[in-house]
Amino acid sequence: MIFIDKVKMYIKAGNGGNGSVSFRREKYVPNGGPDGGDGGRGGNVIFVVDEGKNTLLDYKNRRKHVAQNGENGGGKRFAGKSGTDLFLPVPKGTVIKDAETGKVIHDMSDGEPYIAARGGKGGWGNSHFATPTRQAPRFAKNGTEGEERDIILELKMIADVGLVGFPNVGKSTLLSKITAANPKIGNYPFTTLTPNLGVASVYEQTFVVADIPGLIEGASEGLGLGHDFLRHIDRCRLMLHLFDASCEEGEMALEKIKKIINELEKFSPALASRPMILVGNKQDSVYDESLLEGVEDFAKEKNMQLYYISAVTGKGLKELLEGVAETLKTLPPIIAYESEISFDITPERVRETVIENVNGVYHVTGEWIKRAAGGVYFDDYESFNYFQKILKKGGVFEALVERGIKEGDTVEIYGLEFNYVE
Ligand code: GDP
Ligand code: MG
Repeated sequence: MIFIDKVKMYIKAGNGGNGSVSFRREKYVPNGGPDGGDGGRGGNVIFVVDEGKNTLLDYKNRRKHVAQNGENGGGKRFAGKSGTDLFLPVPKGTVIKDAETGKVIHDMSDGEPYIAARGGKGGWGNSHFATPTRQAPRFAKNGTEGEERDIILELKMIADVGLVGFPNVGKSTLLSKITAANPKIGNYPFTTLTPNLGVASVYEQTFVVADIPGLIEGASEGLGLGHDFLRHIDRCRLMLHLFDASCEEGEMALEKIKKIINELEKFSPALASRPMILVGNKQDSVYDESLLEGVEDFAKEKNMQLYYISAVTGKGLKELLEGVAETLKTLPPIIAYESEISFDITPERVRETVIENVNGVYHVTGEWIKRAAGGVYFDDYESFNYFQKILKKGGVFEALVERGIKEGDTVEIYGLEFNYVE
């Protein structure tokens, strides 16, 4: 199985349904009033985290994701059905980027749902437009288009600790010993084609460990598998650099350690500067310890901790885990990617705000609000609060007061309805 950690896709939210033009037909009433219902809103495209997933493989052959349109309104004030939201499950740590600019739209590492494309609004039926002087409105509003965009999903796993090292040094074995993960183990290079994650615990402390497939020389130039996989350790807080301390490999150990460090530096200096602990594995089969003196000098010189373990017999694992746990306590938390799409609330933008009072309901629209609302999942309290802050900053509440809004009046903003409270 090939590991897919970057996919491009097109997403489109559903269009809003059209409002209906209709008049009541009653037996003895010649001209019934307008009773055209509203169109339903279009379905949203919403990304959700699936904790059980660790690849984007599901999306390899499905590149177009379109949510359902809202249905048109009908007579007798029948509202059209809303389009069903389209939920796209992704692994935790998936970063959503704009395909054109490459900018980060959202990082799914907080585990919350994220609306990446918002459904269009349903249009109003003619029943909304009746006034004392216009009793038979022969028009209704069309629904608006759902948002569409080309995006890139990039999986950047979330692990506190990344295991790096040449193939066959025992990374998978170690992961299987210290966590419940069950990676494939084999005595040949590239046993691991998918990164594996596991949770290790020492006393009260737990941390996530990722097994990264073997780095090889030239990996940072895109040779072999290295480059793609390095993306996953991008945000590790600590690296465990495993090397083979056993007889056949002992003399080569330092040379190989340096090669790996070199690869990391070429890929990302930021990553290479992250703290690293050296771990000599296969201690059970070391016969000439003098071969490891070079490694020990190197560790001292670089101020790195050095442990010897046997992943197979379990020797030294407890000490290693304790050392890792202690070190993690001193390190900053996992990096989350900030959204690079900003909603600068400029005076020009704010001037685009339109408030319509239709039969006592205040409808607020404006391109900047639409964009800000784009990422907000209204069912989520935090998200909603954030949106409210944006509205406040953009002067929407002040404008509503100017228009004479009173406590308890209904406000509608891109499908979100709430009562105004002073
Ligand atoms: P990876 O490629 O780094 O993931 O390495 P694996 O975990 O697949 O292990 C490669 C080989 O080394 C397997 O045959 C393991 O059984 C063996 N191995 C792993 N740890 C030890 C150890 O502590 N001692 C010995 N003698 N062999 C080990
Ligand atoms: Mg492996």
